[in-house]
Amino acid sequence: LENARQTPQRIAEYLPGQDELHQRELTLIRDIPYALESGQFFAVYQPKVDIHARSCKEAEALIRWQHPTLGFVAPDEFIRLAEHSGNIGLITNWMLQHVIVQLATWRAAGFTVTVAINLSVHDLLNPKLAEQILQLLHNYDVPHDAISLEVTESAIMQDTATIIAQLERLRKLGIRLAIDDFGTGQSSLAYLKQLPVHEVKIDRAFVKDIHHNNNDALIVKATTQLAHSLGLVVTAEGLENPTGLAELLQCQCNKVQGYFFSRPLEAEKFSAWIKQFPEQNQQWFAQKERQ
Ligand code: C2E
Ligand code: MG
Ligand code: MG
Ligand code: MG
Repeated sequence: LENARQTPQRIAEYLPGQDELHQRELTLIRDIPYALESGQFFAVYQPKVDIHARSCKEAEALIRWQHPTLGFVAPDEFIRLAEHSGNIGLITNWMLQHVIVQLATWRAAGFTVTVAINLSVHDLLNPKLAEQILQLLHNYDVPHDAISLEVTESAIMQDTATIIAQLERLRKLGIRLAIDDFGTGQSSLAYLKQLPVHEVKIDRAFVKDIHHNNNDALIVKATTQLAHSLGLVVTAEGLENPTGLAELLQCQCNKVQGYFFSRPLEAEKFSAWIKQFPEQNQQWFAQKERQ
């Protein structure tokens, strides 16, 4: 960070435009701690639909930042900055606490749902992670299987032995684990058998064009078969096109998360969405049957 602070003036002379980017990044990094305390962050929930049971009992929580002067900042931008600047732990703690409080509120209202939270590689290297999560679940009286944790394939590749040990600790606590963005992280399919996870989320890259790309369909099908033979549940990420649903059913994927069913929604809209899902869902699957 010290280095980064010195760079803007120096490179400004040579690379017009670069200095503004650095300035923005430095502003974002500087603002994260205060933004967390002052309510600039919130969580949205994207439904994960079981396409065979035609039910929805799960969601992924995704963080959002409404910055007072810069407007909406995408997680793809600030999560990376938070990882580089050592602020990611603050974000993860905020998200864990926020989601677990939300789960407690929903459960008190008779609404039971499992919510996935994303972790970064830094979180997984934190030896206190499991203990912190356990404490939060205990404080708000939320059962261990009401949350699940998502870890990208590329995060695991960074320090495999330590991270697998951490995942095993979490798994023993009864917390569900998923490999996120699977297929983009250079690891082989065979590598899956080493990972103590319950679920594989196939990256959007293989799902978004599945309705007209036969290679993508073959990749999703093979990945699903292998994951199933290892006893894992498969979720396809990023379905937008209605025709893709038929393909994913044929590939035997268990769950689908994507704009086709719903964009990520704020808490109240999400619980309303789930309530109307039984009626809505007829329409979505009928669309598929018409083809
Ligand atoms: P991810 O964990 O793979 O989350 C899925 C991303 O795909 C989300 O983007 C979601 O809005 C988007 N998405 C879902 N369905 C569709 C679709 O049909 N089409 C398209 N184009 N996109 C779809 P989002 O919310 O912008 O998050 C981006 C990434 O930022 C996440 O990827 C995750 O890696 C990271 N992220 C988000 N929230 C958190 C968080 O609380 N903690 C950490 N560590 N990372 C987070
Ligand atoms: Mg995720
Ligand atoms: Mg993903
Ligand atoms: Mg991603």
